[in-house]
Amino acid sequence: MQTLHVFAASVLAYGLATDRGPNPAPGEQAGQSASSSQLWLYCPTNLLVDENVAKLDDLWRRAAKMGYTHVLLADSKFCRLVDMEPRYFHNVDRVKALARELRLTLVPAVMPIGYSNDILSRDPNLVEALPVREALFVVHRNVARHEPEPRVELKGGDFNDLSRWDWKDECVTADAGAARVADPNGRNARIVQKLNVAPFRQYHVSVRVKTADFAGTPEAKILADGRALTFINLGVKPTQDWTVHHTVFNSLDHTEVALYLGCWDGRSGSLWWDDAKVEEIGLLNVVRRPGAPLTVHREMTGDARDPVAWIEGQDFERVVDPDMGVHPWPGEYDVWHEPPVIRLTDAGVKKLPDGSRLRVSYYHAITIHDGQAMICPSEPKTLEILRDHMRRVHEAFGASAYFMSHDEIRVLNWCDACQKRHLTAGQILAENLRQCTSMVREVAPDATLYVWSDMFDPHHNAGQDYYLVRGDLARSWEGLDPKVIVAVWYLEKRAESLKWFADRGNPLLIAGYYDAPPTQVLDWLTAARDVKGVTGVMYTTWRGDYEQIGPFADTVRGEVSHSGK
Ligand SMILES: [Zn+2]
Repeated sequence: MQTLHVFAASVLAYGLATDRGPNPAPGEQAGQSASSSQLWLYCPTNLLVDENVAKLDDLWRRAAKMGYTHVLLADSKFCRLVDMEPRYFHNVDRVKALARELRLTLVPAVMPIGYSNDILSRDPNLVEALPVREALFVVHRNVARHEPEPRVELKGGDFNDLSRWDWKDECVTADAGAARVADPNGRNARIVQKLNVAPFRQYHVSVRVKTADFAGTPEAKILADGRALTFINLGVKPTQDWTVHHTVFNSLDHTEVALYLGCWDGRSGSLWWDDAKVEEIGLLNVVRRPGAPLTVHREMTGDARDPVAWIEGQDFERVVDPDMGVHPWPGEYDVWHEPPVIRLTDAGVKKLPDGSRLRVSYYHAITIHDGQAMICPSEPKTLEILRDHMRRVHEAFGASAYFMSHDEIRVLNWCDACQKRHLTAGQILAENLRQCTSMVREVAPDATLYVWSDMFDPHHNAGQDYYLVRGDLARSWEGLDPKVIVAVWYLEKRAESLKWFADRGNPLLIAGYYDAPPTQVLDWLTAARDVKGVTGVMYTTWRGDYEQIGPFADTVRGEVSHSGK
């Protein structure tokens, strides 16, 4: 079979030994390493826990016997090395020694751009933030509270009369003052209502949910002009008693949105909705940093607003949401909690009588799915923290290869720091990749660099309308240095992805497995048949399932051995 002849040949072409760095494992000479394809293992862990080192010891010994050559090692603590105690670094030394003994190349995952919660633990205010414009706050005594405007009106949220909603799917029925979905059997099960909203305001949706053996994912979605404005998982359990669930959205530039309470993948069991509410809110998860300014103006009669801004610290106390980015630990963001108010100083109280109307503009954090948060790439402090992170990881590991973790960047180009650059999302991302590449090279000039493919691939996520990214992600790939090895992982468009990066001159690493049958990697290897520059294949598990590393290695190697025929 021809497939892996080219595969093996391409491995030779790219000189795989280069990333073993200053301390090659015994027997690892350039020619020797290059004559075999790399076999990688993806290992996320927490090295603060001693038992995890013992687990890696067992796993890596098994893997090394099966011919694995590289380990992509990820640990959220890589972003918090500044706070780690000596026993953490002791465990780092243990895994380094283990890798040396087993002749495995350790490749630490760095630069968490996309899934940025870990690096955001260093400063939760660096989260990319959506703008709120001119929200109304009204003064009463020494406090200014948010006032919804216009009051968003959800009709029939008590579900006593489903006809008050705009439309519903057939399998949503009235049931004792609630809306019930029973045995959807794969059918869409939605009840929908259009809502008038003000542009660039923050809204809170709450709804009570009960389930009984429900197989499917109940969602509260906001759609506008065919695009979703919220991607938050409600976290409904298959069986639960009445529980209030929350989602929050920013209306962005829309004046009409549609609320969908529904399930798109329901199979069996029952789901009930009740007590749906939608309200405009203010200052929830307000972000405070230079590139996310908060401004307060007084509304004047006959005039849009007073041009003079009220001064924080002088007229009103510093505005913070003490619950922003700290629950259950720094870098994690609540979907919903009670938002803060604006407290006037004594000087402010004298100037602003009761009933004074204030217009407040600010930026707020937003999360995707289960709490995923993106760091703002445009705020200068982000780069300082990333540089420090990289320096500390290199001090600890002295690795000869690093893996940049740009991946599924879902909120971008909204805050003032981003927008005032007047770049597209793709250009901002390209520049960030250039900066990250150069920050790795500052400390490890000879290191081999890797990055995930999706955000630099027009066949995958580098395009228009990607989650809450503002504008087009095209041209992100212009920041990709041709020496950086791209870990491709989009199985569905594997042929297009491989060709895209190979044509750009980037070497490739195939990220396979993904908790599918191990033979699925054959689809990748077949697609890679005529592609130059494939350096290896990675066993990539998101479930921590290493049961299939043997069959996976056999599949890859079986194919490789055919190449000799
Ligand atoms: Zn930004």
